Amino acid sequence: MDIKREILKLKKERNAVIMAHNYQRPEVQDVADFVGDSLELAIKTSKTQADIIVFAGVRFMAETAKILSPKKTVLLPNYRAGCPMADMVTPEDVRKLRKKYPEAAFVAYVNTTAEVKAEIDICCTSANAVKVVESLPQKLIVFLPDRNLAHWVSTQVKDKEIIPFDGYCYVHNGFTLKDLLKARKKHPEAEVLAHPEAPPEVVENADFVLSTSGMIRHTKRSQAREFIIATEFGLSHRLKKENPEKEFYSPGPPRFCGNMKLTTIDDVYNSLLKMQHEIVLSQDIIERAKKSLERMLEVI
Ligand code: SF4
Repeated sequence: MDIKREILKLKKERNAVIMAHNYQRPEVQDVADFVGDSLELAIKTSKTQADIIVFAGVRFMAETAKILSPKKTVLLPNYRAGCPMADMVTPEDVRKLRKKYPEAAFVAYVNTTAEVKAEIDICCTSANAVKVVESLPQKLIVFLPDRNLAHWVSTQVKDKEIIPFDGYCYVHNGFTLKDLLKARKKHPEAEVLAHPEAPPEVVENADFVLSTSGMIRHTKRSQAREFIIATEFGLSHRLKKENPEKEFYSPGPPRFCGNMKLTTIDDVYNSLLKMQHEIVLSQDIIERAKKSLERMLEVI
């Protein structure tokens, strides 16, 4: 069976669209209608005319698609694909922090569950976190769940006090300064691009701090021919595809997100064939979480 052809056939029959995150397996990215980061995919899903959204990513992304398009059927091809960082913060954590910091604005990375999004004031992604925090009238900001992204934002927005939650992404948090310096020595001509989920000492020693979409734009227009990229190495598939003449290296061994890589092309096919695994959220959660996402979309 030519699985790619079957997926395209089913997609047409069902009026479906396939969204894939930049960290998905190459063969999954290649059958997608759109490949992007959380922000780009959130915007695309809010505008699609398709009846069905197959979300090749992790659960919080598929939930975001459902919140923004509640009338559509949203499918997560592999039901085990979650995000350990998103699971580090619970709605109860937010409620407790609200009592402790009643005057603060609560900002949450989109890498959170729908239930957490329903408790906070505004969402952000790594691409717009600085803009979102700058847009708020409050001086005190509780930022969750990623402490590294919170730290990066605090270096960019000087007139606010940022209280970070103690969460992290196990993929990005594993990059080290030692590996970065070694990679620089090995590839002295390369530009270093770091994702803000990486530890502060890695981010401080990068040439550019960018979201994955920022990395894609930057590598296209940069005169450099070599890049050291401190992010999940799945991005290198798209980078190489769009810049075949350029080289991409990881600082230290390439780091992959096991959760992002759970989704196979067979899962995408089965998802469309059997209409599995549908994201179901209560109306109350959808309505409250939608406010946080829509506020973010108004800022960008
Ligand atoms: S790369 Fe990190 S933040 Fe993204 S899904 Fe994997 S664990 Fe979660």
